[in-house]
Amino acid sequence: MSIDLRSDTVTRPTDGMRQAMFDADVGDDVFGDDPSVNRLQQQAAALCGFESVLWFPSGTQSNLAALMSHCGRGDEYLVGQEAHTYRYEAGGAAVLGSIQPQPLANQADGSLDLAEVEAAIKPDDPHFARTRLLALENTIGGRILSPDFVHAAQALARRHGLALHLDGARLFNAAVAMGRPISQLCAGFDSVSLCLSKGLGAPAGTLLCGSQTFIARAHRCRKILGGGLRQAGFLAAAGLYAIEHHVERLAEDHANAIMLSEGLLHAGYEATPARTNMVFLHAPAGFSAYLAQHDIKVLPGERLRLVTHLDVSTEDIAHLLDVAKRFTRQRRA
Ligand SMILES: *Cc1c(COP(=O)(O)O)cnc(C)c1O
Repeated sequence: MSIDLRSDTVTRPTDGMRQAMFDADVGDDVFGDDPSVNRLQQQAAALCGFESVLWFPSGTQSNLAALMSHCGRGDEYLVGQEAHTYRYEAGGAAVLGSIQPQPLANQADGSLDLAEVEAAIKPDDPHFARTRLLALENTIGGRILSPDFVHAAQALARRHGLALHLDGARLFNAAVAMGRPISQLCAGFDSVSLCLSKGLGAPAGTLLCGSQTFIARAHRCRKILGGGLRQAGFLAAAGLYAIEHHVERLAEDHANAIMLSEGLLHAGYEATPARTNMVFLHAPAGFSAYLAQHDIKVLPGERLRLVTHLDVSTEDIAHLLDVAKRFTRQRRA
Protein backbone atom coordinates (compact mmCIF):
# COMPACT_ATOMS: atom_id res chain seq x y z
CA MET A 1 0.00 0.00 0.00
CA SER A 2 1.37 3.40 -0.92
CA ILE A 3 1.60 6.22 1.63
CA ASP A 4 0.15 9.41 0.18
CA LEU A 5 1.26 12.62 1.91
CA ARG A 6 0.46 15.00 -0.96
CA SER A 7 -2.58 16.45 0.78
CA ASP A 8 -5.33 15.68 3.28
CA THR A 9 -7.73 15.82 0.32
CA VAL A 10 -6.69 12.31 -0.81
CA THR A 11 -8.67 10.57 1.96
CA ARG A 12 -11.33 8.10 0.88
CA PRO A 13 -14.64 7.79 2.73
CA THR A 14 -14.49 5.42 5.69
CA ASP A 15 -16.91 2.47 5.88
CA GLY A 16 -19.13 4.36 8.34
CA MET A 17 -19.21 7.37 6.05
CA ARG A 18 -20.07 5.23 3.01
CA GLN A 19 -22.93 3.65 4.96
CA ALA A 20 -24.21 7.09 6.00
CA MET A 21 -24.13 8.19 2.35
CA PHE A 22 -25.91 5.02 1.24
CA ASP A 23 -28.63 5.52 3.85
CA ALA A 24 -29.09 9.29 3.27
CA ASP A 25 -32.56 10.77 2.86
CA VAL A 26 -32.40 13.06 -0.15
CA GLY A 27 -34.49 15.61 -2.03
CA ASP A 28 -33.95 18.41 -4.54
CA ASP A 29 -31.71 20.91 -2.77
CA VAL A 30 -32.29 23.59 -5.43
CA PHE A 31 -35.89 23.57 -4.13
CA GLY A 32 -34.49 23.54 -0.58
CA ASP A 33 -35.99 20.14 0.17
CA ASP A 34 -33.03 17.90 0.73
CA PRO A 35 -33.40 16.81 4.38
CA SER A 36 -29.76 15.77 4.73
CA VAL A 37 -28.45 19.08 3.41
CA ASN A 38 -30.84 20.98 5.67
CA ARG A 39 -29.83 18.93 8.69
CA LEU A 40 -26.11 19.47 8.02
CA GLN A 41 -26.60 23.22 7.56
CA GLN A 42 -28.63 23.55 10.76
CA GLN A 43 -26.27 21.43 12.80
CA ALA A 44 -23.23 23.31 11.52
CA ALA A 45 -24.82 26.69 12.26
CA ALA A 46 -25.38 25.66 15.88
CA LEU A 47 -21.89 24.18 16.15
CA CYS A 48 -20.13 27.24 14.71
CA GLY A 49 -22.29 29.92 16.31
CA PHE A 50 -23.77 31.47 13.14
CA GLU A 51 -27.35 32.27 12.12
CA SER A 52 -27.03 30.46 8.85
CA VAL A 53 -24.88 27.98 6.92
CA LEU A 54 -24.85 27.04 3.23
CA TRP A 55 -23.27 23.86 1.83
CA PHE A 56 -21.02 24.25 -1.23
CA PRO A 57 -19.50 21.57 -3.49
CA SER A 58 -15.99 23.05 -3.01
CA GLY A 59 -14.00 25.45 -0.88
CA THR A 60 -12.98 27.48 -3.91
CA GLN A 61 -16.63 28.10 -4.73
CA SER A 62 -17.50 28.89 -1.12
CA ASN A 63 -14.65 31.43 -0.81
CA LEU A 64 -15.54 33.06 -4.13
CA ALA A 65 -19.23 33.29 -3.23
CA ALA A 66 -18.19 34.86 0.10
CA LEU A 67 -15.95 37.44 -1.59
CA MET A 68 -18.72 38.23 -4.10
CA SER A 69 -21.24 38.59 -1.27
CA HIS A 70 -19.02 41.03 0.63
CA CYS A 71 -17.64 42.98 -2.36
CA GLY A 72 -19.11 44.36 -5.56
CA ARG A 73 -17.59 45.40 -8.88
CA GLY A 74 -14.68 47.80 -8.25
CA ASP A 75 -14.35 46.89 -4.57
CA GLU A 76 -11.18 45.52 -3.05
CA TYR A 77 -10.19 42.89 -0.48
CA LEU A 78 -7.01 42.82 1.58
CA VAL A 79 -5.41 39.39 1.68
CA GLY A 80 -2.11 37.60 2.35
CA GLN A 81 0.18 36.73 -0.55
CA GLU A 82 0.11 33.10 0.57
CA ALA A 83 -3.66 32.94 1.07
CA HIS A 84 -5.65 30.39 -0.88
CA THR A 85 -8.28 33.04 -1.79
CA TYR A 86 -5.56 35.06 -3.49
CA ARG A 87 -2.96 32.62 -4.79
CA TYR A 88 -4.68 29.32 -5.45
CA GLU A 89 -8.14 30.14 -6.82
CA ALA A 90 -7.21 31.07 -10.38
CA GLY A 91 -7.86 34.75 -9.72
CA GLY A 92 -11.58 34.03 -9.41
CA ALA A 93 -12.36 37.16 -7.39
CA ALA A 94 -10.98 39.33 -10.21
CA VAL A 95 -12.13 37.12 -13.09
CA LEU A 96 -15.71 36.49 -12.00
CA GLY A 97 -16.31 39.01 -9.21
CA SER A 98 -14.63 42.14 -10.67
CA ILE A 99 -13.06 42.45 -7.22
CA GLN A 100 -9.51 43.77 -6.92
CA PRO A 101 -7.20 41.84 -4.60
CA GLN A 102 -4.72 43.85 -2.53
CA PRO A 103 -2.19 41.20 -1.50
CA LEU A 104 0.17 41.81 1.45
CA ALA A 105 3.17 39.75 2.55
CA ASN A 106 2.47 37.06 5.13
CA GLN A 107 4.82 37.06 8.10
CA ALA A 108 6.71 33.93 9.20
CA ASP A 109 3.86 32.89 11.52
CA GLY A 110 1.25 33.29 8.75
CA SER A 111 -0.15 36.55 10.13
CA LEU A 112 -0.18 39.96 8.42
CA ASP A 113 1.63 43.09 9.57
CA LEU A 114 -1.35 45.15 10.76
CA ALA A 115 0.45 48.46 10.11
CA GLU A 116 0.77 47.33 6.48
CA VAL A 117 -2.88 46.31 6.43
CA GLU A 118 -3.91 49.73 7.75
CA ALA A 119 -1.67 51.54 5.25
CA ALA A 120 -3.24 49.55 2.39
CA ILE A 121 -6.79 50.69 3.21
CA LYS A 122 -7.66 53.21 0.50
CA PRO A 123 -9.30 56.56 1.25
CA ASP A 124 -12.66 57.36 -0.37
CA ASP A 125 -11.28 58.87 -3.57
CA PRO A 126 -12.25 58.14 -7.19
CA HIS A 127 -8.65 57.11 -7.94
CA PHE A 128 -8.95 54.04 -5.77
CA ALA A 129 -10.89 50.83 -5.53
CA ARG A 130 -13.15 50.76 -2.44
CA THR A 131 -11.52 48.69 0.30
CA ARG A 132 -14.32 46.53 1.69
CA LEU A 133 -12.96 43.36 3.20
CA LEU A 134 -10.10 41.77 5.09
CA ALA A 135 -9.69 38.05 4.38
CA LEU A 136 -7.67 35.82 6.72
CA GLU A 137 -6.85 32.10 6.62
CA ASN A 138 -6.55 29.69 9.58
CA THR A 139 -4.70 27.38 9.59
CA ILE A 140 -2.37 28.83 6.95
CA GLY A 141 0.33 26.45 5.75
CA GLY A 142 -0.35 24.33 8.82
CA ARG A 143 0.23 27.29 11.16
CA ILE A 144 -2.40 28.41 13.66
CA LEU A 145 -3.06 32.16 13.71
CA SER A 146 -2.45 33.51 17.19
CA PRO A 147 -5.66 34.65 18.93
CA ASP A 148 -3.97 37.99 19.75
CA PHE A 149 -3.34 38.62 16.05
CA VAL A 150 -6.89 37.61 15.12
CA HIS A 151 -8.42 39.93 17.74
CA ALA A 152 -6.19 42.86 16.70
CA ALA A 153 -7.02 42.28 13.01
CA GLN A 154 -10.74 42.16 13.83
CA ALA A 155 -10.52 45.40 15.83
CA LEU A 156 -8.65 47.09 12.96
CA ALA A 157 -11.25 45.94 10.42
CA ARG A 158 -14.09 47.21 12.63
CA ARG A 159 -12.42 50.62 13.10
CA HIS A 160 -12.28 51.03 9.33
CA GLY A 161 -15.70 49.57 8.56
CA LEU A 162 -14.29 46.54 6.74
CA ALA A 163 -16.03 43.17 6.65
CA LEU A 164 -14.08 40.09 7.75
CA HIS A 165 -13.91 36.72 5.99
CA LEU A 166 -12.06 33.70 7.33
CA ASP A 167 -10.96 30.91 5.01
CA GLY A 168 -11.15 28.19 7.62
CA ALA A 169 -10.57 25.26 5.26
CA ARG A 170 -8.63 23.66 8.15
CA LEU A 171 -10.11 25.58 11.09
CA PHE A 172 -11.17 22.29 12.72
CA ASN A 173 -7.46 21.35 12.85
CA ALA A 174 -6.72 24.61 14.68
CA ALA A 175 -9.63 24.08 17.10
CA VAL A 176 -8.57 20.52 17.96
CA ALA A 177 -4.88 21.48 18.32
CA MET A 178 -5.82 24.37 20.64
CA GLY A 179 -8.44 22.39 22.53
CA ARG A 180 -11.05 25.09 21.85
CA PRO A 181 -14.56 24.84 20.42
CA ILE A 182 -14.80 25.74 16.73
CA SER A 183 -17.33 28.48 17.60
CA GLN A 184 -14.62 30.34 19.53
CA LEU A 185 -12.36 30.40 16.47
CA CYS A 186 -15.25 31.57 14.27
CA ALA A 187 -16.23 34.42 16.62
CA GLY A 188 -15.78 37.96 15.31
CA PHE A 189 -15.84 37.04 11.61
CA ASP A 190 -18.72 37.97 9.29
CA SER A 191 -18.20 34.79 7.31
CA VAL A 192 -16.23 31.58 7.68
CA SER A 193 -15.62 28.85 5.11
CA LEU A 194 -14.99 25.33 6.49
CA CYS A 195 -13.87 22.40 4.32
CA LEU A 196 -15.32 18.95 4.94
CA SER A 197 -13.12 17.37 2.28
CA LYS A 198 -9.71 17.92 3.88
CA GLY A 199 -8.77 16.19 7.13
CA LEU A 200 -12.44 15.52 7.92
CA GLY A 201 -12.47 13.01 5.09
CA ALA A 202 -15.68 13.77 3.15
CA PRO A 203 -15.46 13.25 -0.62
CA ALA A 204 -16.63 16.84 -1.27
CA GLY A 205 -18.21 19.79 0.47
CA THR A 206 -17.57 23.06 2.23
CA LEU A 207 -19.72 24.98 4.68
CA LEU A 208 -20.07 28.75 4.41
CA CYS A 209 -21.24 30.37 7.66
CA GLY A 210 -22.68 33.85 8.14
CA SER A 211 -25.74 35.93 8.99
CA GLN A 212 -29.08 35.17 7.36
CA THR A 213 -28.81 38.15 5.00
CA PHE A 214 -25.21 37.30 4.09
CA ILE A 215 -26.09 33.67 3.33
CA ALA A 216 -29.05 34.80 1.20
CA ARG A 217 -26.59 36.77 -0.96
CA ALA A 218 -24.15 33.85 -1.01
CA HIS A 219 -26.99 31.53 -2.11
CA ARG A 220 -27.56 33.74 -5.17
CA CYS A 221 -23.80 33.74 -5.88
CA ARG A 222 -23.68 29.94 -5.58
CA LYS A 223 -26.40 29.77 -8.25
CA ILE A 224 -24.47 32.15 -10.52
CA LEU A 225 -21.34 30.02 -10.06
CA GLY A 226 -23.20 26.85 -11.03
CA GLY A 227 -23.11 25.35 -7.57
CA GLY A 228 -26.79 24.51 -7.07
CA LEU A 229 -26.84 20.70 -6.84
CA ARG A 230 -29.95 18.53 -6.77
CA GLN A 231 -29.76 15.41 -4.52
CA ALA A 232 -26.75 16.83 -2.68
CA GLY A 233 -27.85 14.95 0.43
CA PHE A 234 -25.59 12.01 -0.42
CA LEU A 235 -22.63 14.36 -0.03
CA ALA A 236 -24.16 16.23 2.91
CA ALA A 237 -24.57 12.89 4.71
CA ALA A 238 -20.81 12.39 4.37
CA GLY A 239 -20.31 15.89 5.78
CA LEU A 240 -22.60 15.20 8.72
CA TYR A 241 -20.76 11.97 9.43
CA ALA A 242 -17.47 13.89 9.24
CA ILE A 243 -18.44 16.55 11.80
CA GLU A 244 -19.91 13.90 14.11
CA HIS A 245 -17.10 11.32 13.89
CA HIS A 246 -13.94 12.74 12.36
CA VAL A 247 -13.24 15.94 14.29
CA GLU A 248 -11.67 14.65 17.51
CA ARG A 249 -9.48 12.20 15.60
CA LEU A 250 -7.66 15.10 13.90
CA ALA A 251 -5.50 14.96 17.06
CA GLU A 252 -4.05 11.68 15.68
CA ASP A 253 -3.03 13.44 12.46
CA HIS A 254 -1.35 16.16 14.52
CA ALA A 255 0.47 13.60 16.68
CA ASN A 256 1.66 11.84 13.50
CA ALA A 257 2.86 15.14 11.98
CA ILE A 258 4.73 16.00 15.19
CA MET A 259 6.31 12.53 15.24
CA LEU A 260 7.29 13.01 11.59
CA SER A 261 8.81 16.47 12.03
CA GLU A 262 10.71 15.45 15.17
CA GLY A 263 11.98 12.26 13.54
CA LEU A 264 13.13 14.15 10.44
CA LEU A 265 14.89 16.80 12.56
CA HIS A 266 16.54 14.04 14.55
CA ALA A 267 17.73 12.40 11.32
CA GLY A 268 19.35 15.67 10.27
CA TYR A 269 16.70 17.02 7.90
CA GLU A 270 15.75 20.70 7.84
CA ALA A 271 12.11 20.27 8.89
CA THR A 272 9.74 22.77 10.50
CA PRO A 273 8.18 21.66 13.80
CA ALA A 274 4.53 20.71 13.18
CA ARG A 275 1.60 22.17 15.11
CA THR A 276 -1.26 20.66 13.10
CA ASN A 277 -1.16 18.19 10.18
CA MET A 278 1.60 19.62 7.99
CA VAL A 279 5.35 19.23 7.97
CA PHE A 280 7.57 21.29 5.68
CA LEU A 281 11.08 20.33 4.87
CA HIS A 282 13.93 21.39 2.70
CA ALA A 283 14.33 18.38 0.43
CA PRO A 284 17.85 17.18 -0.34
CA ALA A 285 18.42 16.43 -4.06
CA GLY A 286 16.92 13.07 -4.99
CA PHE A 287 14.83 12.72 -1.83
CA SER A 288 11.37 12.86 -3.49
CA ALA A 289 12.46 10.33 -6.11
CA TYR A 290 13.78 8.04 -3.37
CA LEU A 291 10.46 8.27 -1.54
CA ALA A 292 8.62 7.52 -4.80
CA GLN A 293 10.73 4.36 -5.23
CA HIS A 294 9.45 3.30 -1.82
CA ASP A 295 5.85 4.02 -2.79
CA ILE A 296 5.65 7.20 -0.69
CA LYS A 297 3.89 9.98 -2.58
CA VAL A 298 4.77 13.64 -2.03
CA LEU A 299 4.28 16.71 -4.20
CA PRO A 300 7.67 17.42 -5.76
CA GLY A 301 9.47 20.68 -4.96
CA GLU A 302 12.45 22.04 -3.11
CA ARG A 303 10.33 22.76 -0.08
CA LEU A 304 8.30 19.62 0.53
CA ARG A 305 4.92 19.75 2.24
CA LEU A 306 3.98 16.48 3.92
CA VAL A 307 0.38 16.26 5.08
CA THR A 308 -0.95 13.68 7.53
CA HIS A 309 -4.58 12.54 7.43
CA LEU A 310 -7.16 9.82 8.01
CA ASP A 311 -5.42 7.35 5.68
CA VAL A 312 -1.91 7.74 7.18
CA SER A 313 -1.15 5.65 10.26
CA THR A 314 1.53 5.96 12.93
CA GLU A 315 3.11 2.82 11.39
CA ASP A 316 3.25 4.62 8.04
CA ILE A 317 5.11 7.51 9.68
CA ALA A 318 7.56 5.09 11.34
CA HIS A 319 8.13 3.46 7.94
CA LEU A 320 8.68 6.85 6.27
CA LEU A 321 11.24 7.78 8.93
CA ASP A 322 13.09 4.49 8.31
CA VAL A 323 13.19 5.26 4.59
CA ALA A 324 14.40 8.82 5.29
CA LYS A 325 17.18 7.52 7.53
CA ARG A 326 18.24 4.99 4.90
CA PHE A 327 18.38 7.81 2.36
CA THR A 328 20.83 9.84 4.46
CA ARG A 329 22.96 6.75 5.26
CA GLN A 330 23.10 5.87 1.59
CA ARG A 331 24.15 9.40 0.65
CA ARG A 332 26.94 9.36 3.22
CA ALA A 333 28.20 5.96 2.08
C1 LIG B 1 -8.40 23.32 -0.09
C2 LIG B 1 -8.51 24.74 0.30
C3 LIG B 1 -9.49 25.57 -0.25
C4 LIG B 1 -10.38 25.16 -1.39
O1 LIG B 1 -11.04 23.99 -1.29
P1 LIG B 1 -11.42 23.11 -2.58
O2 LIG B 1 -12.54 22.28 -2.07
O3 LIG B 1 -10.20 22.34 -2.94
O4 LIG B 1 -11.86 24.04 -3.65
C5 LIG B 1 -9.57 26.86 0.23
N1 LIG B 1 -8.72 27.32 1.16
C6 LIG B 1 -7.76 26.56 1.69
C7 LIG B 1 -6.85 27.13 2.72
C8 LIG B 1 -7.61 25.24 1.28
O5 LIG B 1 -6.65 24.49 1.79
